[in-house]
Amino acid sequence: MPARKPPSQSKSNCIFCDLVQGSAEVSMCYEDDVALAFMDIQPVNPGHVLVIPRDHYETLQDIPRAVGWHLFQVTTRLIPVIQKIAGAEDMNLIVNSGPAAGQNVFHYHIHLIPRTKGDGFDVPLPFPGSEMPNRHLLDAMAVRIGSALRMDPTRETPASGVRVVNPADRMAATVTVAAPKAKAGAKPKAPPKKR
Ligand SMILES: [Zn+2]
Repeated sequence: MPARKPPSQSKSNCIFCDLVQGSAEVSMCYEDDVALAFMDIQPVNPGHVLVIPRDHYETLQDIPRAVGWHLFQVTTRLIPVIQKIAGAEDMNLIVNSGPAAGQNVFHYHIHLIPRTKGDGFDVPLPFPGSEMPNRHLLDAMAVRIGSALRMDPTRETPASGVRVVNPADRMAATVTVAAPKAKAGAKPKAPPKKR
């Protein structure tokens, strides 16, 4: 397990830490030793909840895996309950991790946003400005990510019975690359001589 990153120095002026410590008003709907869930004060729809860790971690990358997994478990437990109570049809889970991704409170949090058709909210995916990249570029990026994962010293062993497939092997098995045809009468190229 990777070394746990110490909580950020900005903890002292964090509004979510104030909620955790009971020094600010909050409408809490779930609480345990690790996680809290409370009503967002700027809800997209009624029942909009935030799930946060009790300890101060800024972004997704700062969260220890065990804490991240626990937050996800709390989230999945809350989803059907919130949907039922809010009378919502569906749910968006949104994490804005880092300033470029639109994070505005730097204490990691998961938005649970109940949704109904025509509620006026939108998560515009697929991105309207997107163009389908060349398949070779997608393949190359996938192989780079797969290779980096295998080189990652912090990687965890997959759960028993889970087989990890190398993306390069998958592509080799599924993509047929036509071999260049040899010209009639052409001599096969000899391998370069070693000096
Ligand atoms: Zn905090």
